[in-house]
Amino acid sequence: MTFIRNGLKRLLETALVASGGAARARRHRSENVMILAYHNIVPAGSHAVGDRSLHLPQREFAAQLDRLQQTHDVITLNEALNSSRGVSPVSDRPRAAITFDDGYAGTLTVGVKELIARGMPATVFVTPSFLDGGSFWWDTYADPVTGLDSTLRQKALSDSRGLAPAVDVLASDRKLRKHELPAFARGASTSELHAALEYEHFTIAAHTWSHPNLATLPDVKLAMELTRPLEWLRQFRIRALPMVSYPYGLSDARVQNAARDAGYTAGFLIDGGWTSTPPQDLFAIPRLNIPSGVSRHGFVLRTAGLIKR
Ligand SMILES: [Zn+2]
Repeated sequence: MTFIRNGLKRLLETALVASGGAARARRHRSENVMILAYHNIVPAGSHAVGDRSLHLPQREFAAQLDRLQQTHDVITLNEALNSSRGVSPVSDRPRAAITFDDGYAGTLTVGVKELIARGMPATVFVTPSFLDGGSFWWDTYADPVTGLDSTLRQKALSDSRGLAPAVDVLASDRKLRKHELPAFARGASTSELHAALEYEHFTIAAHTWSHPNLATLPDVKLAMELTRPLEWLRQFRIRALPMVSYPYGLSDARVQNAARDAGYTAGFLIDGGWTSTPPQDLFAIPRLNIPSGVSRHGFVLRTAGLIKR
């Protein structure tokens, strides 16, 4: 059944691209920006592990960047938030900015390599407490065949507040096994991060300190999760952006106000599609999540704003 459904979906996506639907949808969007949200990039020759939708093979990532170059002007995140094209745009193409969440080793090595090859700018939102080999719970507890248990995911985000030590307790109660992950699917090393930042068009921002569901935290803990990475970012000087992406895309008005009070200039969601410039709400800026497994035509339709998740 799933096979037939996927086949039909791909057929419809192909038809929509071939009929010019994506090109039509991109037109009149020269004032808008599509901010893409990626997670990990899997080095060529390695197998995807963990929560599969977050781990995109290097070859697919490279093909997506090539496609993006044909349809969009790729700009920095700062430009995406601060510039308006004004009355005489240089190009009538829509703009796109590239972001990554979490700070996976694969992203900071082969992901950055593909960006350098094309001279494209990008920003990584890092969770500092996972640097130097930390494993993310959604990868550790993902079964190689069936993926991550949906009840575990739901309880991890509510009862365990998205925090790894509490998820470990939950998983052990459910007798779930921890899976060992290769280095590319864990937090990058500090030296990989510094090496990535040698690329002049690469910038770094925050993804909280320990990746909680911010909306479930009491005020004091919420403030700590936001201020600590902001202080940590200072060492990267002009390459650091005082911006935060909310873990799991989860936030509410209290969280967004806390981000503003902590000193951030912008806060990012994980979905929603097109962003206007300047954004309507600087602390609830939409992005477009690009999961692994999206077909080539599916990517064209998503970046044209026709598929929002
Ligand atoms: Zn994340």
